[in-house]
Amino acid sequence: MTGTFRPGNGAAQRGGAQGTRWAPGDQILWRYRDHAPGLKGPVHICRPVTVVQDTEELLAVWMAPGTECVKPVLADGTPVHAEPLATRYTVPRTTARSRWFGAGVLKLARPGDPWSVWLFWEHGWRFKNWYVNLEEPRSRWSRGVDSEDHFLDIAVYPDRSWKWLDEDEFGQAQRSGLMDREQARRVREAGRAAVEVIEEWGTPFSGGWQDWRPDPAWTVPVLPEDWDRTPAHMTS
Ligand code: MG
Repeated sequence: MTGTFRPGNGAAQRGGAQGTRWAPGDQILWRYRDHAPGLKGPVHICRPVTVVQDTEELLAVWMAPGTECVKPVLADGTPVHAEPLATRYTVPRTTARSRWFGAGVLKLARPGDPWSVWLFWEHGWRFKNWYVNLEEPRSRWSRGVDSEDHFLDIAVYPDRSWKWLDEDEFGQAQRSGLMDREQARRVREAGRAAVEVIEEWGTPFSGGWQDWRPDPAWTVPVLPEDWDRTPAHMTS
């Protein structure tokens, strides 16, 4: 079953303005911008999601299986990971629409944290792992949140063990000039702060979110035509 992205469902009016919140079931966009100072790069990842919870403590959203998303690809349409690491961030890219393959993803973010935590399941709801995506603290706009990926990630397993992921990409991003030494230092520091939360088994790892399930009445949000829209307050 497929729903439509409806700003008229109240999501835009509720969540966009300062101090207002989205309601469970609202459909919003979880987006990442390409690297540029001040979160001003073009949008290259757009994932339509359904709001699970939006409070002062936590924004939780659900990306349903089969959701049509936007992702970066090489200019000839091949996957980014097909490009050797040394040139992965400097060869020309474009974006492509594609359906999210596999089970759905629950994304959790505490406002202001320079990371979000994603939960992955196998089909049949067998919980796999948490994934800490280091990123710019999310900026809210009327139809969703925008961030910038910081390359370095952390995998966290049910036995509470963890490991760094994509350190090679993090290193290459620095060599390719996407991140200067100071920013890389801050990202690594954010990663260490996330590891502290993991080691003390804080929020959201202790929150029982692996037992959460989506409302069966929810429809799959549709990717809007203007998925790359930049809200007025983000232009300059
Ligand atoms: Mg990442």
